Amino acid sequence: MESYKQYWNPTIETMPKEELKQLQLKRLISQVDYVYKNSQFYHKLYSQAGVTPEDIKSLEDYQKRIPIIQKDDIRKDVSPENPFGGVNCVPPKKLMIWVSTGTSGIPTFGGRTREDLILMIENLSRSFWATGFRPGTKVIQQFGNWHWSPSNLVVACNRMGVKQMMVIGASIGPFAQRAAVLTKYFKPDFLVLPATFTQLMIQEAIKMGEEPTELFSGIKKILISAEVLTPLTRKRLKERAFCNAEVHFYAGGGESQVWPVDSCYPECDGGHLWEDLVLSELIDPETRELIPSAERGEQVTTNIATKGTPYVRFDMEDLVDMYYDPCVCGRTHPRITIIERADWQIKVAGKTIVPFDVRTIFEEFPETEEAIFKIQKYSQNMDKLKIVAEYDRKKTKDRKELRERLRQRIKEKLGLESEIEWGQVVVPSMDQVTHKIVRIEDLTKEKK
Ligand SMILES: [Zn+2]
Repeated sequence: MESYKQYWNPTIETMPKEELKQLQLKRLISQVDYVYKNSQFYHKLYSQAGVTPEDIKSLEDYQKRIPIIQKDDIRKDVSPENPFGGVNCVPPKKLMIWVSTGTSGIPTFGGRTREDLILMIENLSRSFWATGFRPGTKVIQQFGNWHWSPSNLVVACNRMGVKQMMVIGASIGPFAQRAAVLTKYFKPDFLVLPATFTQLMIQEAIKMGEEPTELFSGIKKILISAEVLTPLTRKRLKERAFCNAEVHFYAGGGESQVWPVDSCYPECDGGHLWEDLVLSELIDPETRELIPSAERGEQVTTNIATKGTPYVRFDMEDLVDMYYDPCVCGRTHPRITIIERADWQIKVAGKTIVPFDVRTIFEEFPETEEAIFKIQKYSQNMDKLKIVAEYDRKKTKDRKELRERLRQRIKEKLGLESEIEWGQVVVPSMDQVTHKIVRIEDLTKEKK
């Protein structure tokens, strides 16, 4: 077997931390100056905040003076004549356009210059090379062409020498069948897919009369997006279909314009976030205060290298885990995992809970491992968890007993009292594009 270099860009990926921080700061300071001079939106924002680029000489200055922005701040200025809301730093005719998912309103427009494209391809090359993409690797990828990344991944793969990449269209039923058939004939090494599509593919394989563990036995790695994987989901995917594969999670993109893929550990532990391209800060979702060395918080990101529509101190509204400890792979950049949308956090008896915490418990029981559930948020600070859930009727006749077991486990694991109601669950909504199931039903909004 041919041997390849370990890192795509060894100089940057293993740059000593101190040096990397200096490079990041230098780019950050020059980015503030650049957006102030070239973007209507930032010029107005900083003028109103009484700050000029000359005031920003250190990270402390930046964190003290530069306002954190949210999607709505940009949306205020969006119009058909000004679709970028003034964030763009070069004229629109010079930009390749992408749009966000728009799950919470008008999609935000983003644009890339030619140089930005090169940077994004570099970023994808580093991340996917780290997962083991090499010349000769065969890949089936499907993560929705609505996003900026799939087309760029094709280019990145070409650059890495990964020529045999097959792109499947949309992540819906008919395409899942196609993906299953293609697996049989194309025999890919890697799959790059959203979580729900992976399930559809397994179902299609069974319908085709195939045994999934056999059909997918040649798959070496599967990279899954959209919903963060619980340890049990990983285990089950391996047992039921991808018996010889490593299962990894990837997420990112959007306004952060970076794409980390967890790959350094067998278990989900975050993908490297390239600090020469972005600055990532964490804030407390409630107080909105910066939490300097926290491991979990709401992600605020700054593109320090891209020039088309840079997002500067942009609140991604995602709850993330960051890992700053040295990584086994030798890369010096921190790792990040996106856990949930930040507004899906709830307070129960003074504790902060996300649906992921409940999901891991429901998955422990065969009767509810595949159950749909929703958490009802009935006040800002609830005294107990309220859950409406389904269960597998074939696996138990005694639903009272099942409820007791679940309640006990919630008490043990989360230290919380709970009320569980069995019933058919219509999840409040499912984002068809990103395949995130919304598991919080906010009753406080209706009461107002
Ligand atoms: Zn690593």
